[in-house]
Amino acid sequence: MDFKALASRYKTPLFIYDFDHISAQFNSVKEAFNARKSLVCYAVKANSNLSILKHLANLGAGCDCVSVGEVKRALYAGITRYKIIFSGVGKDDSEIEFALKENILMLNVESEAELKRVEAIAKNLNTTARISVRVNPNVDAKTHPYISTGLRKNKFGVDTDTAKKLYIYCKNSPFLDPVGIHCHIGSQITDIAPYRDATAITAELLRSLKALEIDIKFFDVGGGLGIRYKDETPIKPYDFAQSVLANLSGTDVTIVCELGRFLVGNSGYLLTKVLYEKQNGTKRFVVVDAAMNDLIRPSLYSAYHEIETVDKNGGGSLADVVGPICESGDFLGKDVELPPLEHSDLLVVKSAGAYGFSMSSNYNSRPRAAEVAVKDGKDRLIRARESFEDLIELEKEYLKKDWDE
Ligand SMILES: *Cc1c(COP(=O)(O)O)cnc(C)c1O
Repeated sequence: MDFKALASRYKTPLFIYDFDHISAQFNSVKEAFNARKSLVCYAVKANSNLSILKHLANLGAGCDCVSVGEVKRALYAGITRYKIIFSGVGKDDSEIEFALKENILMLNVESEAELKRVEAIAKNLNTTARISVRVNPNVDAKTHPYISTGLRKNKFGVDTDTAKKLYIYCKNSPFLDPVGIHCHIGSQITDIAPYRDATAITAELLRSLKALEIDIKFFDVGGGLGIRYKDETPIKPYDFAQSVLANLSGTDVTIVCELGRFLVGNSGYLLTKVLYEKQNGTKRFVVVDAAMNDLIRPSLYSAYHEIETVDKNGGGSLADVVGPICESGDFLGKDVELPPLEHSDLLVVKSAGAYGFSMSSNYNSRPRAAEVAVKDGKDRLIRARESFEDLIELEKEYLKKDWDE
């Protein structure tokens, strides 16, 4: 990757995504499940750029969406409607209505109250809602507490007994068609046991539903496959698939998985330029032009991202790499070993493809970074850098109004 050329062409801070890496990750999962019918859905929230969605659509991916905005993005980018799943604990009426009218694959329901709303809205539209129920298997994914979702104390899903009750309710409703079963236990998971445990619990429910003549077609194992940021040993797609398939012998379900980070995380780089070096007492800081508004993971989860120089080598000393934002929590890396740096030297923050741009903000009135895709050695812009005009667009006309008008 020619970071220097990309920086001079597109300026910094800049997100760069390796589309060939995304293809390779997608294909590795698809292959791991090739003994069965499978649907690999991309979790749009990891990185919702339309060109990424289109790239994945071309590979045959579906999408897992957690807002109507994400459903609209998926449709706009050309994802087949019958490959779109809509999850999330707080869908509002207009979102449910939109999803039903668009006839997407299924709504993934997370509570009894939500199921009743879906039923009422489907009835109003005189249609039948395809749904899955999100089971909370009470399994510890052994990941960061903020990204663990499969425990009773988390807000997600319903316990297996409640799930069963909801399926029976669906069976007796002309407006609800239970086609799927779902669980998603967390993110950045690097331990196979929680997957095995969660699928075992969900598969048991699947079998008990079969006994009640409730025939589930889609078995959705969620996402959460971890990647390497530092020294983690990620689960291999093959082992992931085996942990799921081992629980599903004798069944004829289509296996669905919803991967975000695994598909795009390692494909992404955040390229940033050094502004200044400074020393506060014994503490060395490298101030760069990217900040927590571009990549919030270090500030939010104390997440580690490898940071490398682009064209300077040699040992150095430890420094905190920080942005211009007025918060002490604004850092991209702590105690990073870096050679002496000068104004305009480039640094690259690695594994920034997932939960990077999609969690970025305009805090401190900073326009969001541009995004570039690289494929077959060619690069192209996939999102223009925001401008000051973009930032004030929704406010400026109100300046013209006086309070006493
Ligand atoms: C966030 C999320 C995912 C994807 O998580 P990753 O760790 O990025 O794979 C999948 N399914 C649901 C329901 C989610 O909320």
